[in-house]
Amino acid sequence: FNKLDRDRTLPEKKTKEIESYVGFANLPNQVYRKAVKKGFDFTLMVVGESGLGKSTLINSMFLADIYSADYPGPSQRIKKTVQVETSRTLLKENGVNLTLTIVDTPGFGDAVDNSNCWQPITDYIESRYEEYLNEESRVNRKSQTVDTRVHCCLYFIAPSGHGLKPLDVEFMQRLHDKVNIIPVIAKADTMTPEECSHFKKQILNEVAQHQIKIYDFPDEVLPPTAVGAAGAGSGAGAVDRKLRDRIPMAVVGSNTIVEVDGKKLRGRKYPWGVAEVENLEHCDFIALRNMLICTHLQDLKDVTDSVHYENYRCRKLAGLGHDSKQTRASNKNPLAQMEEEKREHDIKMKKMETEMEQVFEMKVKEKKQKLKDSEADLQRRHEQMKKSLELQIKELEEKRKALEAEKTAWEQTNGITIEELRRRSLERETV
Ligand code: GDP
Repeated sequence: FNKLDRDRTLPEKKTKEIESYVGFANLPNQVYRKAVKKGFDFTLMVVGESGLGKSTLINSMFLADIYSADYPGPSQRIKKTVQVETSRTLLKENGVNLTLTIVDTPGFGDAVDNSNCWQPITDYIESRYEEYLNEESRVNRKSQTVDTRVHCCLYFIAPSGHGLKPLDVEFMQRLHDKVNIIPVIAKADTMTPEECSHFKKQILNEVAQHQIKIYDFPDEVLPPTAVGAAGAGSGAGAVDRKLRDRIPMAVVGSNTIVEVDGKKLRGRKYPWGVAEVENLEHCDFIALRNMLICTHLQDLKDVTDSVHYENYRCRKLAGLGHDSKQTRASNKNPLAQMEEEKREHDIKMKKMETEMEQVFEMKVKEKKQKLKDSEADLQRRHEQMKKSLELQIKELEEKRKALEAEKTAWEQTNGITIEELRRRSLERETV
C-alpha cells in the first residue's frame, strides 16, 4: 500500500464552505475545557552544587514556598552521596491546576571525588521512563497514563567566570540524550553585565566544543504580554530579544520583597542598589519563568515524549536499556524480558557452538594422529620388506656365481662346453 496506491484509492480532498453554523467551530473550546478540567502536570529537575540558589529560584519562580514544607534547606541537608528527592505541589491560578513536581538532587558535586555522581540522576530519569513504558505496555491500560517523566532539567552553573567545570561537561554529556537540559548561570547578581555576557559566550563555546545538545528552543519571540507585566523597567529591546539569545539564562533568586521607589518587588538589596529578580535588564529570571511556564511547557513535554522517551524505548527494545539492577529485578517489562531471554538464548547457542567446534577439532586431531601412525607403520614395513628382498637378491647372486664356477670347473675337467654337449646330443637325436 504505497503512496501511489493510496493516492489512487483516496478521493481528492475538497474544501467546502458551510453556509450556516453547524457547531464544530466550538471544538477547540471543548478541548480547552477538557484540558483545564484535567489540569496540567510538569516535572522539573534541578541539578547543581548546593548553595547555588536552586531552592530560592524555584520558590521565586512559582511564588510559593515549594521547598520549605518538605525541604529543610541546604545547610541542614548535609549529604555525602547524591540523593534524588521529589516534592509534588498543586498550584492553582485562575482556576487552572498545575501539578508541579520538583526533583532535587542534593549532594550533587559536593563530594571530593565526584566521579559517577550523575549516576543516581540517570537512574532516576530512566526509572521514570521504565515506569511509563510498563504502564503503556500493560494489557489493561489506564485511561490516562500518569506521566512522571522528567520534562526539564535546570542545570545550575556556578558564576565562576571561568567557563564550565569538568563535572558540568560530564553531567551534560551523560544526560543530554535523556532529558531536556537548560543550563542556567546561578547568582548572576555576582557578575557585571559585561562579565555575564562574556561568561555566556564562553559557556556556549564549550557546549558546542563538547557537542552537548542542550534544549533547542523553537525560534520564537517572547510574547510581549508574557513579559510586559513583570518586566518593569526593562527596555523594549530587551523584551523583544529572542529566548535563544539569552541561553544560558543568567538568573537571580530571592525570597524577600524589597521596596524600590515605593514599589514592592522581589530582589536582593545591596548597599549600592537592588538586583531585581523580575527585571529583564538585571537578569533572565522572567524570561526563564515565562519560557518554562507560559510558552514552552508543552514543547518541553512534547520533546520529552517524542525524543528522549522514544530514544529510551528504542534502546530498551533493542536490548540496550541501561536500567539499574534493582529496578530490573523488581519491575520487569515483558518486552524487555523477551529481549533478555533472547539474549540469553543467543549466548547459550554460541557457547554450544564453541563447545561443538572444540569437540570436532579434537576428533580431527585424533584422526590425523591415527593416519600418521599407520603411515609410519606402513613405511616401516615397506623398509623391512625391501631389506629382506635385497638380502634374497644378494643370496641368489652368490648362488648363481657358485653355479657358474662349478660349470666352468666341469667343462675344464671334461674338455667340452655344456653348449657343445647339448648341440651333439641334439644331432644324435635327429639321426
Ligand atoms: P541550594 O542549595 O542550591 O538550594 O541553595 P539555596 O537556594 O538554599 O541558596 C543558598 C544561599 O544562596 C542562600 O543564602 C540564598 O539566599 C543565596 N542565594 C540564592 N539565590 C541567590 C542569588 O541569585 N544571588 C545571590 N547572591 N545569592 C543567592
